[in-house]
Amino acid sequence: EPAQNGVSAQITVNSPEQMRELGRRLAKLLRAGDLVLLNGELGAGKTTLTRGLGEGLGVRGAVTSPTFVIARVHPSLGDGPPLVHVDAYRLGGGLDEMEDLDLDVSLSDSVIVVEWGEGKVEELTDDRLHVVIHRAVGDTTDEVRHVTVTGLGERWVTVDLSVLAA
Ligand code: ADP
Ligand code: MG
Repeated sequence: EPAQNGVSAQITVNSPEQMRELGRRLAKLLRAGDLVLLNGELGAGKTTLTRGLGEGLGVRGAVTSPTFVIARVHPSLGDGPPLVHVDAYRLGGGLDEMEDLDLDVSLSDSVIVVEWGEGKVEELTDDRLHVVIHRAVGDTTDEVRHVTVTGLGERWVTVDLSVLAA
């Protein structure tokens, strides 16, 4: 197992807009070659977070649920890295399957965000960010989400994830 970052950030999010804002903040920490795994049940807010991430990275096209495609590439509007948005729900798993997607970009030049990625794309790199989104149990407004962000590997050892909770 790769080294785990000492600090994993816990963020409470109260609305879809705040989830997008979290995505925009997270984007500022990311650079080409980074891998982000998003987990949490259907409707947790994985795609909403990715939408904010795309806004923060300044990519072309609104991020939507890749329902009929497994992966979508959003090129940067500036000189930043493209966002590769993967829905691994129907992806069998493993590096081979990712390579078989035959994307037009090199993964090492991109920011890769994988919904349902746990247990499927870890072999891409030892350095990765795990984001887990939980609905608040028994919450009546149903808009509260608890987000845990954990950095794995050397890449994240020196990154202060607490800025995400700002
Ligand atoms: P997932 O990709 O995890 O299946 P989506 O982001 O597609 O989830 O959908 C989340 C749904 O929950 C949206 O309809 C969104 O408006 C709603 N929602 C309510 N509260 C939140 C919140 N705090 N964060 C994200 N989405 C929320
Ligand atoms: Mg989704």
